[in-house]
Order: sequence, then C-alpha cells, then structure tokens
Amino acid sequence: MRVMKVCHACDRILGEIELDDLTSADSDSIMDIVGNVSYTLCPDCLNELKTESGNVFH
Ligand SMILES: [Zn+2]
Repeated sequence: MRVMKVCHACDRILGEIELDDLTSADSDSIMDIVGNVSYTLCPDCLNELKTESGNVFH
C-alpha cells in the first residue's frame, strides 16, 4: 500500500512511500499515518524545529 508523505508543519507533499518500507526502516518516530496520508516533517521544518528547541534549551 502506498501512502502520501505530507509535512505536518507546512503541508508540503514530500512524495509517496510504500507502507512496507515504514516497518522495515528504523522508526522515524514522528510519523503519523492517517488513512493513506503519512504526516511527517520535511527536512526544512525538522531543521527549524531542532534549531528552535536548541535555542530554547540553551
Ligand atoms: Zn515542512
């Protein structure tokens, strides 16, 4: 089964993935699958999030 990968933060479509890949790949924790859409974070938003939290914690 194919699921669409969509960024949770900016709604950017990141492509399609095979659901089988999900189980075999190391769990990318923040993935949230609803129906056939997999909400995740694109590298940009992930980066921003990391930078932000990094600033907060320092
Ligand atoms: Zn994004």
